[in-house]
Amino acid sequence: MAQQTTIAWTDSTFNGWIGCTAISPGCDNCYAAAMMDTRLHRAKWGPGEPRVRTSKANWEQMRRWERNYARFEQEHGRARRVFCFSQADVFDNESPIGWFVDFMELCRTTPHLIKQLLTKRIGNVVRRLQEALEHVAEQLVATTQLGAEKALQTDWQALRDWLIAWLAGRAPSHIWIGATVVNQVEADRDIPKLLRVPAALIFLSLEPLLASVDVSRWLRPRTTGRDDGREGVQAPEWSQATRVVDWVIVGGESGRKARPMDPLAVAGLRRQCEEARTPMFFKQWGGRTADAGGCLLDGIELKQWPLASI
Ligand code: SF4
Repeated sequence: MAQQTTIAWTDSTFNGWIGCTAISPGCDNCYAAAMMDTRLHRAKWGPGEPRVRTSKANWEQMRRWERNYARFEQEHGRARRVFCFSQADVFDNESPIGWFVDFMELCRTTPHLIKQLLTKRIGNVVRRLQEALEHVAEQLVATTQLGAEKALQTDWQALRDWLIAWLAGRAPSHIWIGATVVNQVEADRDIPKLLRVPAALIFLSLEPLLASVDVSRWLRPRTTGRDDGREGVQAPEWSQATRVVDWVIVGGESGRKARPMDPLAVAGLRRQCEEARTPMFFKQWGGRTADAGGCLLDGIELKQWPLASI
């Protein structure tokens, strides 16, 4: 967790736990895994490897930001954005459900902070929320039996109501959910799932961008046809016909083994975003270090933000 971060599209980062399993070509040079191998040695990556929960003090930091939200908003004219889980995947189903529930409670009780939840497991979102709800229901019964003093630590009733409302379509306005895709195969597979996710704001991260990707069909409203997230989608609960990706982040890879990003692929995404009037945030070209290639696109810094309020 960091008060300040070098990730340009957020203000602060928070990790409730550390550790993950690579599941995409975008994970090949995972910087968090590399950091554990070379310096931090706090968690091992891979299936079956236990995730490591971060300290109580680390979790408390988010509450401090919440207590000080008014000062931040006065200084910046907007709410603090917190990128949650830069060293793990929040919807990783190998992490204990109890930790995820604790994180949900932290989110519920810090409504003045925008949580940016970015995942490579977008298909897990609803299932994880449902599992959290089941876990909370069990805890509610258990703590009722234990007595009021223990029950006070988490407001299980309030958390249950909050999760029920979320799953029923009343998503919290301070939680943004994004999917990372790095090539066309992942875009075709995951963006339709992103459109169905219950979230007040949905975004797409193409970082590291490994190939040209056409996302244009998901940046514009669709009106009729099949329910596959492509042209002409039929609108189920959270994939309304008018639903589009609200924000696009593009970035190149950084690190010792960074794979170069094709400028034509970047130009293509910029054109698609401009045509659809979708805000695009160009993070960096990448290279050996995060700022090796700079972040200028045709001589300007393209750092656009979605229209959002909480
Ligand atoms: S999902 Fe993210 S944290 Fe997990 S291995 Fe891939 S890049 Fe690393």
